[in-house]
Amino acid sequence: MLPEFSASMLELIVKTSTDLPPDVRAAMKAASNLEPPDTRSGQALSIININIDQAADDEGAICQDTGMPTFEIHVPRGADELWMADQIRLAIVEATKRGKLRPNSVDSITGKNSGNNLGPGTPVIHFSQWERNDIEVRLLLKGGGCENCNAQYAVPVELAHLGRADRNLEGVRKCILHAVWQAQGKGCSPGAVGVGIGGDRASGYALAKAQLFRTLDDVNPVPALAELEATIMGTVNRLGIGTMGFEGKTTLIGCKIGALNRLPASFFVSVAYDCWAFRRLGVILDATTGAITQWQYRDPSSAVVPMADQAGFMRSGREVVLTAPFNEADIRALKVGDVVLLNGRMFTGRDSVHAYLMKNDPPVDLRGSALYHCGPVAVKEGDTWVMKAAGPTTSIREEPYQADVIRKFGVRAVIGKGGMGAKTLAAMKECGAVYLNAIGGAAQFYARCVERVDGVSLFDFGVPEAMWHLQVKDFPAIVTMDANGNSLHKDVEAESAKELAALNG
Ligand code: SF4
Repeated sequence: MLPEFSASMLELIVKTSTDLPPDVRAAMKAASNLEPPDTRSGQALSIININIDQAADDEGAICQDTGMPTFEIHVPRGADELWMADQIRLAIVEATKRGKLRPNSVDSITGKNSGNNLGPGTPVIHFSQWERNDIEVRLLLKGGGCENCNAQYAVPVELAHLGRADRNLEGVRKCILHAVWQAQGKGCSPGAVGVGIGGDRASGYALAKAQLFRTLDDVNPVPALAELEATIMGTVNRLGIGTMGFEGKTTLIGCKIGALNRLPASFFVSVAYDCWAFRRLGVILDATTGAITQWQYRDPSSAVVPMADQAGFMRSGREVVLTAPFNEADIRALKVGDVVLLNGRMFTGRDSVHAYLMKNDPPVDLRGSALYHCGPVAVKEGDTWVMKAAGPTTSIREEPYQADVIRKFGVRAVIGKGGMGAKTLAAMKECGAVYLNAIGGAAQFYARCVERVDGVSLFDFGVPEAMWHLQVKDFPAIVTMDANGNSLHKDVEAESAKELAALNG
């Protein structure tokens, strides 16, 4: 067997989870340079940049949602694929134990988290043979928030603000623009899209995801697709959705398109949306030892250039400092666009907690509280829980529950990312509550805002879904829905819809 294969896989997993590849760093740096630092998008990008540096420096997960591990492997003839797959699974378990991956594999029937990232379909491992004598392993970690922004169109189709998309490349262009517009900030923009034209529903999505293994700066070898990629990148940022949907100059950092033959009756356009935390790396291995002979997407001999221009979050002096539990008057005084710095107690709660609260009283007193949509990476060190990664999760999933939770239990601040809908906005106005948008993916940055973990409730739901009691200090977020019925998300969606219509060539 290959004595170094297992260690090589662990190194690949840890590096992919903690160190963003140079092409993505370059695209994010370019986005940062375009955005004035005192804008909402500018401030968000500065937090993202600090987070990227912190993750690489301390080998911590860039984002707490370490995603679905997807391995694409090329092997020479005669390789023992079953043994290699077993070793990869063991490496996944070890990386999870070390807090480099969040336990992310949930039984779809029972709802139980396996706790070690193994289970039917997790991780995804694809083998194919090639004529070479070495082994190539590429890994993509793609989180749920951006996965939920994927879209598939059966063309011809009528699209909001764009009209009919026909069965040609112009129709494909419209579908891509629509998918990006529809995602708004929910997939942690600026994002990148992989696009599959044709195939059937399954192979179209697989092709779209495979495009994400291309570097952001490559050129499509098919001239018509290269032209379409350039057209999209030359126009899409006019949508103005910006970082986290805060409005800004960069909405998309990459568009990569592939095509498959299709059935005469079908024409699918499949879009795989990836977030700014675009984690993919690869290695070439010696086929006799399993040792890494070469890295892909990165050059380990080149020094990593820091992303952040300053050491910490740059304050404007206009930040509103609030300490939980909050009183109604302070919360009602907040307006969309205010930047807040939160101190004191915060409770996490996401899908399982919200479903639980529909039928049960909360395990803690939520009156005046901050409820944080977050599924952290938490590790027990001795008797103490430590937050290893603790950024926000996509809030819109809680839209069916949030208004009831605010009304019944007196929550004053809901913290998450991507915004919420009309029902929640109405409850906030009625009860005096706000929505605070934290910066999606900034898991290292926010973990450092947690001074200590005071406890945990509903632990049976698993680490990401439990209710954690956190003591935080100087936790920054932006008011994007206020108690006067205003919503930045609604405004940006409406403005970007006008720009989308203007792109209807
Ligand atoms: S950056 Fe956002 S979309 Fe991406 S994995 Fe993290 S939380 Fe999910």
